Amino acid sequence: MANDFNALIVEKEGDGKTSAAVGRINENQLPEGEVLVAVEYSTLNYKDGLCIGPGGGLVREYPHVPGIDFAGTVETSSDDRYRPGDKVVLTGWRVGENRWGGYAQKARVKADMLVPLPEGLTTRAAMAVGTAGFTAMLAVMALEDHGVTPEKGKVLVTGAAGGVGSVAVAILARLGYQVAAVTGRPEQADYLTSLGAAEIVARDTLTEVTRKPLESEQWAGAIDAVAGAMLGRVLKQIHYGGSVAAIGLAGGAAIEGALITPFILRGVNLLGIDSVMQPYDNRVRAWGRIARDLPMEKLEAMIQPATLADLPGLGRDILKGRVKGRVVVDVN
Ligand code: NDP
Repeated sequence: MANDFNALIVEKEGDGKTSAAVGRINENQLPEGEVLVAVEYSTLNYKDGLCIGPGGGLVREYPHVPGIDFAGTVETSSDDRYRPGDKVVLTGWRVGENRWGGYAQKARVKADMLVPLPEGLTTRAAMAVGTAGFTAMLAVMALEDHGVTPEKGKVLVTGAAGGVGSVAVAILARLGYQVAAVTGRPEQADYLTSLGAAEIVARDTLTEVTRKPLESEQWAGAIDAVAGAMLGRVLKQIHYGGSVAAIGLAGGAAIEGALITPFILRGVNLLGIDSVMQPYDNRVRAWGRIARDLPMEKLEAMIQPATLADLPGLGRDILKGRVKGRVVVDVN
């Protein structure tokens, strides 16, 4: 049919189960919005893994088209800010969760959800960055805003071989920080070193829950994608006045073994980072910084190319922590 195109469609089956496969949808099935985008690339985040599967409570209605990020070219727009041919990027706003997302050749969204692609970034590079890299940049900016500079000491990145962690390592190294990368996959040490990590920290040195109020001060700052026991331990190792940007919960939704001591005896800051509802101005600032401060050749080394058909398998892999770096999905 005219205006049909490919999409990854998740259907609900019995017993709360779902199945995901590439199928055809029509432009008139897309959600309401001012801007129709011809999607070029999307990517894979932990949340996408959930939404490709049974949704983990994120998806409300089926059939569903996941994909929390996309980049492409505006096809039509009824909003003055965008014209046909403009390159745009979208992350967050619960696109791909409670409305159809980027795992399709077209997406219709509200103009407020888009950011113009900054000069110097291609749509492919933007999706190598994706929500994971965008959030890593927000975390770097939060550390900077709280006075964590390269002269203050080493910065620790947890979940380092994952999407957020890989981009965080590359950006911090480019900005001149000495980066210590925590990984549970020792075989990824060379990869992390190539991104700029100066030191590899074995995950199991930080997973034991201790009741010690404080440990020796080792890090001026940290970007944490893991939480759980690891965040509890990291907080106790931060320098006086240092900061931790908390991004994710790959290792648990609580902060285990955490005590109040790092906050009241060392003035440590715990900075919450949310990418989904981030205000427009800060989104533009972060994408501008990405175009400037993320070494593109390092980004290239993180890319694992994929197609829509690869996504069901990759979705399962990311939930098991088996994906390295950044998956870039060519939806065409
Ligand atoms: P990935 O799966 O790519 O990376 C997570 C990494 O965490 C893994 O690669 C692994 O790193 C490490 N890890 C996984 N399980 C454990 C565990 N049980 N204990 C310790 N370490 C573990 O996911 P993303 O990088 O895309 O996302 C990371 C987290 O950030 C997720 O929780 C995600 O939901 C969250 N997130 C939050 C955002 C926000 O707006 N706040 C935006 C984007 C993501 P290694 O193998 O190196 O040890």
